[in-house]
Amino acid sequence: MSDTRPPLKSLADALAELLGRAEPQLASERVSTFDADGRVLAQDVISSLQVPPQDNSAMDGYALRCADVPAGGALLPVSQRIPAGSAGVALQAGTAARIFTGAPIPPGADAVVMQEDCEVVAVPPAAIRVMRVPQPGQWIRRGGEDVLRGAVVLSKGELLTPASIGLAAGIGMDTLLVARRPRVALFSTGDELVMPGDVAPERMKPGAIYNSNRFFLRTLLQRLGCEVTDLGIVPDRLDATVDALRSASAAHDLILTSGGVSVGEEDHIKPAVQKLGELGLWQIAIKPGKPFAYGKVGHAHFAGLPGNPVSSFITFLLLVRPFLRKLQGATDLTPQPIALPAHFTWARADKRREFLRVRRNAAGGLDLFPNQSSGVLTSMVWGDGVVDNPAGQTIARGDSVRFIAFAELLS
Ligand code: AMP
Ligand code: MG
Repeated sequence: MSDTRPPLKSLADALAELLGRAEPQLASERVSTFDADGRVLAQDVISSLQVPPQDNSAMDGYALRCADVPAGGALLPVSQRIPAGSAGVALQAGTAARIFTGAPIPPGADAVVMQEDCEVVAVPPAAIRVMRVPQPGQWIRRGGEDVLRGAVVLSKGELLTPASIGLAAGIGMDTLLVARRPRVALFSTGDELVMPGDVAPERMKPGAIYNSNRFFLRTLLQRLGCEVTDLGIVPDRLDATVDALRSASAAHDLILTSGGVSVGEEDHIKPAVQKLGELGLWQIAIKPGKPFAYGKVGHAHFAGLPGNPVSSFITFLLLVRPFLRKLQGATDLTPQPIALPAHFTWARADKRREFLRVRRNAAGGLDLFPNQSSGVLTSMVWGDGVVDNPAGQTIARGDSVRFIAFAELLS
């Protein structure tokens, strides 16, 4: 029998469609710089001063003029003391200034000699002997070498990190304008699902499993700066699914579901979305993760993830993560793959583009997790990324493959 179904949508097409739908972007809000990590910047951050503000010492030592030390052993009286936080006065010719790390270089000095290269002649040092001839500029950090006045230090659409909030604080920003948090309603479907804590492992009924997707999806959403409404587990019934989707659509930017999106008669997500709104996309040519769905219910976007935990996780990382970041106005959405040698073989080429769970090894190659089943969450814990393997491609040991680190997909 010939297969007359239309070809599945490619990941690239599905992603382009989702990103196109992530418009208009969310409004912005001002937050304390302390709380801005993980948020997307909604303004350019421009420095109104230079950093460091002036030339300063990179060492504890003595500021002096190189011309006063023509040879090792020169004796210089100490004419002033400049600790960090205070400014000295112009350096008298033929003298040295005691100086500490971060303190401004006094006018007239052109080098700092570290204290290890000086001998104190009297204590408190009334004079020092400079044992080594200094080079002009040595141990001086130049004013503006980090940030110039007027420089754009952070750009609209950037994801804020601990380093960038430090930089913003360093130019005097105590608040930052960021995209407001996406409001996401999350629910799991599946009559087999039990919450850990509700039933002890030894009392689990045959056929029951714990709800693991709820835990990682909620955590992933929080990492992406979302405000999550967790609606728990919805039973495998059309009416219950319709009710849950309808009530979630009112006050959320995105409804995210797991499970119930395949073709079985217990899978009610697809008909429920079609009943209430529009299903724009269903099924993608990737493995794991084929039964991914995207649509709209009222004003809310809808993303339906497969129930199998690895499929759910991977489709979240590949599709929902960039979608949520785009909603927040993020500009850098594409993970950077690295070419690495496979230290394994993959003999079964698939019709779909595959994402194989692998781990970098000490020899600079990739090891493959032995069980690539979409239900085996252990593969995601053991692995530190995936090989993005094109459709129809086998892999021989030593082949260069495209590795995408999970770290690239988690923020
Ligand atoms: P479904 O997509 O609903 O057909 O589910 C596919 C497989 O994933 C089934 O074996 C389910 O038991 C499993 N599954 C669905 N939802 C979850 C969940 N929240 N946590 C763990 N496994 C799940
Ligand atoms: Mg199900």
